[in-house]
Amino acid sequence: MHRSVSIGVDIGGTKTIAAAVDSDGQVLSHRFVPTPTTSTDDLIEAVVAVVDLARAATPHASLAPESVVPVGIGVAGLIDGNGGRVLVAPHLPLDGVDLARRLGERLGRVDAVYNDATAAAWAEWKFGAAQGAANTVVLTVGTGLGGGIVMAGQLVVGQRGLAGEFGHRVHVPDGRDCACGSHGCWERYASGTALTLQARDAINHGAQSSLVREFADQPEQLRGEDVTRHAMAGDALAIGLLAAIGEELGRGLRDVIAMLDPAVVVVGGGVS
Ligand SMILES: [Zn+2]
Repeated sequence: MHRSVSIGVDIGGTKTIAAAVDSDGQVLSHRFVPTPTTSTDDLIEAVVAVVDLARAATPHASLAPESVVPVGIGVAGLIDGNGGRVLVAPHLPLDGVDLARRLGERLGRVDAVYNDATAAAWAEWKFGAAQGAANTVVLTVGTGLGGGIVMAGQLVVGQRGLAGEFGHRVHVPDGRDCACGSHGCWERYASGTALTLQARDAINHGAQSSLVREFADQPEQLRGEDVTRHAMAGDALAIGLLAAIGEELGRGLRDVIAMLDPAVVVVGGGVS
């Protein structure tokens, strides 16, 4: 029997993932490719290719032959809530690109284009950790800090599709510069990028630590995963760096909870 199958695509700063899912949210197959970050055309081709790969990997019994499968897209960027156009994507060659139209022409059917954290909020509420909680906030802690909101069982996108961009609330007045053009944004203090920055700072100050010893000669090679690895091995500095990120996350989250009073807060993303 052919089940109702959709394909979800996550266009991230480093990789693009496509997953075929059924109407119960079960993942039937998934594939990923590196995200081309310099050419819009290359990125469009990569999305088409990874959707084809995920579709080809889906059990035949689930898909009607030659059927057009609905596709939903999540993008690491700010999306015009009305039209599926990317407004700004700091890590992708998609500024101003009408992604719904470009991909719709190639894939036959694109039903939704959302900011990745907004899409994550809907998925967590529908199928994941916040299932059944009508008022939910999702934070995605990765390279940046994204957010999404479900209130009264409805996805909240806001007037321009920018609701839930918590990462750009001012966390430290006149603080660190942010790619958004502002200063002191929360994501500059609570994200994978913040973790890496603070670890490199510790290296430059010559702190006593296995993490510092490994990267003393090449601090630019250090990644967030390295901090986690040393923390798991008991390095006090690495543990302290992760704890500091957690503390900044908690400080900001207090404001989010005060404003939205969610029943559930889901914290996800690579750094979580
Ligand atoms: Zn910002």
